[in-house]
Amino acid sequence: MALAISEDLEIVIVGGGICGLATALALHRKGLKSVLLEKSETLRTAGGAIAIQANGWRALDELGVASKLRPNAILLERIREIVLNGGEQQEEFIHYSNIGETRWLKRSDLIEALAEDLPLGTIRFGCQILSVKLDTNTCFPILQLNNGNKIRAKMLIGCDGANSVVADFLELKPKKLHPSSGVRGFTYYPNGHGYAPQLLRTRRGNTLSGVAPVTDNLLFWFVNHQWHPQDSKVMEDPKMIKQMTLQTIKGFPKETIDVVQSCDLSTLHFNNLRYQAPLDILLGRFRKGTVTVAGDSMHAMTPFVGQGGSAAIEDAVVFARCMKRNFQANYNKDFIYKSEEMIEKAMDEYVNERRMRLVKLATQSYLMGYLLDSSSLLFKLIILVLLGVLFRDRYAHVRYNCGKL
Ligand SMILES: Cc1cc2nc3c(=O)[nH]c(=O)nc-3n(C[C@H](O)[C@H](O)[C@H](O)COP(=O)(O)OP(=O)(O)OC[C@H]3O[C@@H](n4cnc5c(N)ncnc54)[C@H](O)[C@@H]3O)c2cc1C
Repeated sequence: MALAISEDLEIVIVGGGICGLATALALHRKGLKSVLLEKSETLRTAGGAIAIQANGWRALDELGVASKLRPNAILLERIREIVLNGGEQQEEFIHYSNIGETRWLKRSDLIEALAEDLPLGTIRFGCQILSVKLDTNTCFPILQLNNGNKIRAKMLIGCDGANSVVADFLELKPKKLHPSSGVRGFTYYPNGHGYAPQLLRTRRGNTLSGVAPVTDNLLFWFVNHQWHPQDSKVMEDPKMIKQMTLQTIKGFPKETIDVVQSCDLSTLHFNNLRYQAPLDILLGRFRKGTVTVAGDSMHAMTPFVGQGGSAAIEDAVVFARCMKRNFQANYNKDFIYKSEEMIEKAMDEYVNERRMRLVKLATQSYLMGYLLDSSSLLFKLIILVLLGVLFRDRYAHVRYNCGKL
């Protein structure tokens, strides 16, 4: 039976998180118009802060939004790393001058900066995609929306996060649950926090905490620890999340405890960590017809190298560049409609360029997560050897440059 199509569109992006907005903006900067469908009624700005390292800033520079964001995010000078082992404490300083520009950004600042440079009408809120099918006549994707409408797109990019409908259409393996969970929050200091421009990172067994300044009045902090079944009872109650977190970091540096103690309860987030196995990224079929994925729907990562968001912004830059390169010679306003093969070629170039970058990031993140999580000394030793062999330069991923838009 023929499907009643409500609307025909050229480029459709599903999901208005960091990746979807960055992709729409990258395409816009290259003169390509897209429509972004987001299930929420407004921009989703919650979720604390996000570390953007030098590779992420290079990509944001290409998108033309970095200069708006820098004034709202303190430039960090170093990592103060503390390892607690029984009664002993080891301390090390790692200077960012050797790693490159690193700042913690409020997610809301990043999301708003990307969205405000988009042409009016690009984002359609309250549009949840329920399923994707191929049109048997044209081979273009048809999206079924929650409001009963069906949209046919010439090109579809799924940026719909870890539980992606578009990834399901591509038959990608589901994201896995990591044994760790993460709590994140903000602490406000109306008269200034006086905190050094550094990330204070403390590790004890499989608990890892971090505290970093975002602005002169705002500190961001996180605590990752092993997931316990009873944690699910705590998840919805900020007071219990705070209590549980303070319990978890007992014996940690006083600065860390004080920051959690004074946190703003309304900013607390607690969730399980999910990831795409590196092998699934290596082998995944990331394009079917004129449909592909980017961001967490392609490569959800645990936060142990702090790169999921930056990698999503890199995806956007590379995707738009590949599209424009292929359209350059003979693009006109009707051209996309006619050239399914050209879209497929551009998408394949995008996937090929991204794949090994993402496999490396996901592998490093995976190994670091399991190093933290494992209690077996032998297992830890094996992971340390693997990390030493595969990632001799721990920060090589930050020196990566995704190139010009
Ligand atoms: C604890 C934690 C800490 C992190 N820390 C860092 C860090 O320091 N640095 C860093 O770079 N990264 C970090 N990350 C990773 C980073 O947050 C993610 O990689 C990034 O947010 C992914 O963006 P996205 O746009 O791909 O997905 P999402 O942010 O999940 O956005 C998906 C969007 O799609 C929408 N959507 C979903 N389904 C549908 C549908 N069916 N129809 C329409 N819309 C839909 C959602 O509403 C949402 O707006 C961290 C992640 C976690 C969990």
